[in-house]
Amino acid sequence: MNSAAPGQLIDGKAVSAQVLAEVTADVAALKAQGVEPALAVVLVGDDPASHVYVRNKVLRAGEVGIRSLEYRLPAEASAAEVLALVAELNGDASVHGILVQLPLPKHIDETAVLQAIDPAKDVDGFHSENVGGLSQGRDVLVPCTPAGCMRLLRDTLGDLSGKHAVVIGRSNIVGKPMAALLLGADCTVTVLHSRSKNAQALCRKADIVVAAVGRPRMIDAEWIKPGAVVIDVGINRIEEDGKSRLVGDVDFAKVQPLTAAITPVPGGVGPMTIALLMQNTVTAARQQHGTHLSAGTPLQAVAQ
Ligand code: NDP
Repeated sequence: MNSAAPGQLIDGKAVSAQVLAEVTADVAALKAQGVEPALAVVLVGDDPASHVYVRNKVLRAGEVGIRSLEYRLPAEASAAEVLALVAELNGDASVHGILVQLPLPKHIDETAVLQAIDPAKDVDGFHSENVGGLSQGRDVLVPCTPAGCMRLLRDTLGDLSGKHAVVIGRSNIVGKPMAALLLGADCTVTVLHSRSKNAQALCRKADIVVAAVGRPRMIDAEWIKPGAVVIDVGINRIEEDGKSRLVGDVDFAKVQPLTAAITPVPGGVGPMTIALLMQNTVTAARQQHGTHLSAGTPLQAVAQ
């Protein structure tokens, strides 16, 4: 769909199902060559949300045929224990992807743990080797949420070259890699953050808006140029009318009528993140076994 109708919904559930179908086919092809893609997930502590995320990742891996290994360490595990586990997984040739679920307990230095992961197995794309590679336009493992946003944008708009994209938020997980990917796709990129001046006016110039702020419904109609494409990364739980609801960073009801296309929350970016994690795992397995990426596979396709 290269010409968007006004206010069109970008269906992340449908696109993620398509990505997962592609991954399932890729896994089958790898298995036919004697490679069984495997993802190790490390969970430290008792954070209930993290347990849900890990369960979902393991379930999704099973559905696409990826072998998953789950390692659960107690909240009081030492940094040395976590690093020893990462070292063991780095050295295990049958493991292609390693994901350490964040946040880690406060006494463990997250950066040290992420930096200990072999960059070739870093399916979250958080190691500085991959972060640096992304900024240099090299073919590296890219963080899953921004990679998912790029897939949605490409499916909606086709060529992104020359578009003015505004990213609201500059976190290492979403905002910064998103900006790097958009730049790699030849967009003109503006990144807004909490110290930005005239943020609303700058955003109103954008052809593409990616909101990753973590503030419920902050982006209203005043921020949006008519005809823009809006990707809402935010996931915020609020209490409203006596009910608990998930809402994005964009005020969907006010913004949708103005847009060419927009992601809903839930059902937009959310489902893409796990799908892209599965895709990264297959990419990592291919690269570790020296199998060339095919034209449709993520890294080139996402970053170029
Ligand atoms: P962070 O809290 O790490 O970053 C938020 C960013 O927003 C910061 O860069 C901050 O600026 C900026 N910001 C805060 N207030 C404003 C403001 N008033 N105007 C402009 N910028 C502002 O959040 P994340 O990037 O981790 O996540 C963002 C949202 O995306 C959250 O709702 C999160 O739940 C969601 N998310 C969703 C995922 C998914 O799978 N769909 C995955 C990851 C996150 P500064 O740097 O100056 O503080």
